[in-house]
Amino acid sequence: MSKVYLIGAGPGAADLLTLRAAKLLAEKAEIVLADDLVSADILALVRPEARVLKVGKRGGRLSTPQDFIHRLMVRLARRGKCVVRLKGGDPYVFGRGGEEVEALAAGGVEAEVVPGLTAGIAVPAAVGIPVTHRAYTQGVTLVTGTSGDGCVEPNWSALAKSGTTLVIYMGVARVLNIVARLIAGGLPPDTPAAAIASGTLPGQRHVKGTLADLPARVSAEGLTSPAIIVIGQVAALAAASTGDLCPQDLAARICAA
Ligand code: SAH
Repeated sequence: MSKVYLIGAGPGAADLLTLRAAKLLAEKAEIVLADDLVSADILALVRPEARVLKVGKRGGRLSTPQDFIHRLMVRLARRGKCVVRLKGGDPYVFGRGGEEVEALAAGGVEAEVVPGLTAGIAVPAAVGIPVTHRAYTQGVTLVTGTSGDGCVEPNWSALAKSGTTLVIYMGVARVLNIVARLIAGGLPPDTPAAAIASGTLPGQRHVKGTLADLPARVSAEGLTSPAIIVIGQVAALAAASTGDLCPQDLAARICAA
């Protein structure tokens, strides 16, 4: 019996992978069960003798049932294979890593979790948004924008009053609905807001504006999943559009604030 490694692949760019993850992929993995979000550059680091199975789970598309993934991991580990479950971002942040570790424990299989950089923090950073900043906010709330499929709708009206930066995963397809609920909950429509799609990847794009105009900007720019939405004063610190604000300008703006 061997153990299963639940590895976080980070937000996208291969060089944002942890050293521990890269080493396990390159030296130990025999079977890799990879999520859709994991980029080809990262899969290229897997040792050539290993088998890579895509067990994608992307909103709106056909996905591998979670139970099947659980059974497969247990069966392969029992056969003595070194199994890597490779997940986008961090395995324990909206990654069903908790459920997978429970399923492995129920099957008598040891699990080791290798954390990854979560998209909700690394993707805003890629466009100059610090999710916390002493001058603007005392905290950050990571929340899912998806309801249904066993997910409970977040309490948007409580979140509107939280006083923290809101970082919303899996919310871009429902941005109109989410914004309406936050405004109804008392969040001022002119609160800065941004959305970033395919962060840290070559196709990275983002928009920034206010809470009220975010849905129109997202649809005008055609931003689709995977995307992160950031709401709060820190979102105003984003570069106006990708690449047109050099790090020195950004630093000057942050210093002046
Ligand atoms: N475990 C992952 C999150 C999985 S949920 C993590 O810790 O990052 C999938 C959601 O993550 C996507 O719908 C999107 O909201 C976000 N996401 C993942 N990668 C992203 C990327 N490169 N750019 C923008 N958002 C991303």
